[in-house]
Amino acid sequence: MSTKPMKPLGGQPPQQEIDINDTETVVCDECGNATFIQCFFLRRISPIVSPTGQEAMVPIQVYSCGNCGKVPDKFMPSNDS
Ligand SMILES: [Zn+2]
Repeated sequence: MSTKPMKPLGGQPPQQEIDINDTETVVCDECGNATFIQCFFLRRISPIVSPTGQEAMVPIQVYSCGNCGKVPDKFMPSNDS
């Protein structure tokens, strides 16, 4: 009897381990610092468009530079509304 692991059902790709050598360090555009702090944008929903009819705050998690505080543009929430 073999103990072959079950094959994943079609549709979902198997999970792959990520090799750290295949990753790339993200650095701050402004100062080149490579450490970031977890922070949040708060988006206010006006009562007019809120599903509850009440003003609401929606936190959007981003990372800001631990040195100069800049949030890289790629982390910025889209602001096309
Ligand atoms: Zn910076």
